[in-house]
Amino acid sequence: MSRHKTVLAPGRRPWQCWAIMTMLNFYAGSGLDRAAHRRKDQSWLQAALPAARLVPYWRGKHLMAGPPEAATPVWLDPAADWWRQGLALDPIFLGLDGEVPVFAVDLSPLAEDPARHAELAALGSFVDLRGLTPVLPAETAGVFAYTRALMLWHDRHRFCGVCGHATAVIEAGHARRCTNPACGASHFPRTDPAVIMLVHEDDRCLMGRQSRFPPGMYSTLAGFVEAGESLEEAVMRECLEEAGVHVGDVRYHSSQPWPFPASLMLGFHARALSSDIATDLATDLDELEDVRWVTRDFLLSHQPSDSFRLPPRDSISRRLIEAWLHEPAFGR
Ligand SMILES: [Zn+2]
Repeated sequence: MSRHKTVLAPGRRPWQCWAIMTMLNFYAGSGLDRAAHRRKDQSWLQAALPAARLVPYWRGKHLMAGPPEAATPVWLDPAADWWRQGLALDPIFLGLDGEVPVFAVDLSPLAEDPARHAELAALGSFVDLRGLTPVLPAETAGVFAYTRALMLWHDRHRFCGVCGHATAVIEAGHARRCTNPACGASHFPRTDPAVIMLVHEDDRCLMGRQSRFPPGMYSTLAGFVEAGESLEEAVMRECLEEAGVHVGDVRYHSSQPWPFPASLMLGFHARALSSDIATDLATDLDELEDVRWVTRDFLLSHQPSDSFRLPPRDSISRRLIEAWLHEPAFGR
C-alpha cells in the first residue's frame, strides 16, 4: 500500500520507524517492548522492580500533576513503600522502555478518595483517560490505554468462568488461572473486536449520530463483531442494520485499542451499493438518532457547531474521515 521505503534508524525499535508510526492511532503505540519472555521469570521481575517506572492506576483513572491544560503524568517512586499496602494485585509488568522496566500498579484499594490520601494528593490527582487527550503524548496515551485494559480485565475476571472458583494472577499480570485444582483453567485478557467504517458513494459519505454524543457530533457507523462472523460481514451487516444501506468493497485501514472497557476498533472504508437510507430502520434503533449523507465539500468547509461537528481527533472515526478526504489511496 505504502510506497515509502521502511528504513530503521540505528537504535530505533521496529515500531518506532516513521512508516509504522504514521499508521498508529491514538491509544496505540506505547513504544514499549513487551518482553513477554520475562513474564514468568520471577527472579528477573523482583530484581527489575527497584529500578522500574511505576504507572499508578486508581479505579479507571491515571495520576497527573499540574493544571489540567498542561498536566503531566506522574510515576511512583519504587523506593517509597507507602503504596505497597494499597495494591489490588502485584505490579503488572508492562514491558521495557529502552532499558527501563515499566510496571503498572493498581492503587484502587488504597483510598476511597485519593484527594484525602496525603501521599497521593501530594503527587497529583487521578483523571479519566478520555479527558487527557489534549495533553498526553501519544506514547503515554498508549501506556495508559494498555494499563487500563489490563486493570479493567483483572477487576472483572476474579472468578473462573468454567467452575466459579476464584482465579489468581499469573505471568506478571498477563493471565489468570483458576485456583480450583480440579479445574485449573487459564484465562487471558479479553479484547472485543468492533468494526468502524466510513461508507462512501462518489463525493459523499455516510455519518450517524447517537443520542449520547455531544451536541452536533456525527461519526462513522460502528458495531461489535458477532460470533461466527468475519470482519467484512460485520461491516456489511452493521451498515444494513443501522442505515439500511448495502455496502461492498470493504477495505481495511487501521485499528485502535479502545479500552472503554475492552474493545479493539477495526477501521474500514466501504463503498455504498445502495443510496437510500432506510429511516424506518434508523429511527428504530436504540443506538442512532440520525443517519445522513454528508458531502466532501461540506466536510472540508464546515465550522464545528452544535448542528454539526466531527468526532474528536483521538478517534479512529476521525482518522477514517480524514483519510477519505485527504488521502487518494483510501475510498476513491
Ligand atoms: Zn475453574
